Parts: sequence; C-alpha cells; structure tokens
Amino acid sequence: MQFAQVYGHQKIKEQLIRNVENNRLPHAQLFLGDEGCGKLGLALALTQYIYCTQRTSLDSCGVCSSCRKISSHSHPDVHFTYPVSASKEISTQHIEKWREINASSMYFNTTDWMEAIAKDGNKTPNITREETRSILSRLSLKPYEGEAKTLIIWMPEYLKKESNVLLKLIEEPPQKTYFILVAEHSQQLLPTITSRTQLTKIPRYSYKETHAFLDKKYGLEKSSLEQIARLSDGNLRMATHLIENNSNDHAALFRDWMLACYRNDLKSVSDISDKLHAMGKNQIQLFLKHGIGVLRECMLHQTIDNYTINAESSQVDFIQKLSTTLNAFFIEKIYTQINEVIYHLQRNANPKIALFNLSINIRYHFIRK
Ligand SMILES: [Zn+2]
Repeated sequence: MQFAQVYGHQKIKEQLIRNVENNRLPHAQLFLGDEGCGKLGLALALTQYIYCTQRTSLDSCGVCSSCRKISSHSHPDVHFTYPVSASKEISTQHIEKWREINASSMYFNTTDWMEAIAKDGNKTPNITREETRSILSRLSLKPYEGEAKTLIIWMPEYLKKESNVLLKLIEEPPQKTYFILVAEHSQQLLPTITSRTQLTKIPRYSYKETHAFLDKKYGLEKSSLEQIARLSDGNLRMATHLIENNSNDHAALFRDWMLACYRNDLKSVSDISDKLHAMGKNQIQLFLKHGIGVLRECMLHQTIDNYTINAESSQVDFIQKLSTTLNAFFIEKIYTQINEVIYHLQRNANPKIALFNLSINIRYHFIRK
C-alpha cells in the first residue's frame, strides 16, 4: 500500500517519510487511533516505504518487487501478528484470510476479523502464547531480502502478561528490526507497551473529511450523505457499513425494542436480544449506533424549537413519539449506556446478556403517563 492510498492524514505521512529519509525511524512505534481512522493503512504504507527500492520523497513506487510483495502481504521479512480465535493458534495459520480481508477493506475491526477466521463474530480475539514463541523464532532468522525485518502487531491490546519475552524484544530489539504496533484502546495496552514504543496518535477523520470520502466513493444524495457522515463520527468503517448494509431492518427492530422496553414487556425484550445475538456482534454494533442516531434526533427535537428531524420520513413519526416518553436527562443516560455496551461488545461481553441488561436499564428511563 502506498501512502497515497491511505485517505487523509497528510501531516502524519510527511512526518513518517521524514523519519525514514533522515534515518530517524524509531525501532518500536505505536500507531494509536479509533476504529476506522486508517491506522493500519498508515502502518502498511510506512513499511512499504521503508523497503521500496525506488522511493521518492513523496511515496513508495508501488511497482518494485518489494512494494508488490508488501502489498500482497507476502514479503519474507515483513511479519504480522494479529489476534486469533482459538487457543494455541498462531497468526501464520490465517495468513490467507489476512490477505483477503486487507484486500477488501482498510478499516476492518476485530469483529470483522473474527467473522473472517471463525465464521463467528462473537468469538473472543486472542494473541496466544504460541504466537509469541512463533514471533521470536521468525524474528531470529536473518532477513531474506532487505536489510531489515519488520513486525506489525495489529491489536496489541490482546497481548497478555505472558508476552513478556516479546516485550523484552521490543525493548532491546535485534539489529535492524522494526516493530509497528497498531492499536485502538490505549487503556487496554500493557503499560510496558506504551512505555517502550514511540506513540503516533492517528486522529479521527473530521466531518468534512468523512463527507468528502463518502461523496467521492458513493456519490449519495445530499441528505443521506450528511446523515451518514454525521452518524459515523469520523469512523470510515462505520460509514461504509451504514451505506452497504440495509439499515431498514435496524430501524424496525429498534422501534420494536424501544416499545418493548417502554411496555415493560420482558418476553419481547428477551426475543429481541436473541434475534440481535443471532445477527452477530458486527450487526449489533451497527444496530446500536443506529439507536444512538435516533436518540440524538430525539434530543435535538426536544431542545431546539422548530428543529427539522434529520431522518428518513418513515422514522420521523417514531422519533417524535419517542421524544415524548423520554426527557433530555434520560436520553443522555441511555446514550451513555448504549455506548458502554458497544465498547464491551468489542471486548469479551456476551451480546445476549449485555443487550438484556441494557434493556432492563432502559426500562427505568421512560416517562409513562
Ligand atoms: Zn517500490
């Protein structure tokens, strides 16, 4: 991947290029940024730039043998570590899937990845002890082609304490070995990782950037473009999913869910939790994001005089009605609770239990006349 293929982040790209050109590339770097910000793309573009035999001061060439091997994730000196779904598994067992998912998107998250390798987005990601051993042996080999070896660790959040040997290696790397760690949640990283790597924070895309990205890629009509750009909040994975997945089902299901919570109808709540569980973590997160969008509209409708509700016409009536059953304080509460569930779903939470608990909490927030 060339830098030009990574959307935006011009200043960061320039800094990375300068580091390579001035021979000041840190041996262990941490690219930290929220989902859908293009951090993995930047790590891959940087790696390609390091190895390219015909690079310019702007980018790698994209056509030399090194560039082509790195683009296809098959350069013998560039290694990858990423979470897997079962104990004792190692990354190299899933290299074909890794190539596939990288070829299809730059913004995938761990749930997408679990769905790709385990056919089950509800599986818990894991970087195994066996993987640590495998990395050590891969890195102890002499470089095949270039002078340097690189290890890209995607989602080092899943490295555990038993990875000490690897952390030691990051601290005192073998000659000419680069580590690029690509992470999302700084608070879940082992402190030894944050202290031993040079941090580059990758910001979220702005509303304007997201809008321009979607406009160029999909050319939607103005109102949906604006809505999706706002809803996705700089997360290009979310934005693409919102466009590519039919969100109508989410709208109907969200309406049923709110109604069941309002009516204290625990049977329906439980049925809906089951239904959502069966859809997998990915869809649940999209569903909840949809809900957050609805709640935001409720809030704006309540607080701004003559506010025009920004939603599909079939949703407007529902949003107006929902607004009469919730006050701003409780909308904010539900908002926070939904965001917490999204966060926990990306970790180990059981979707069925998390959704049921969320429903129980939401029930208390309604104003019933
Ligand atoms: Zn090249």
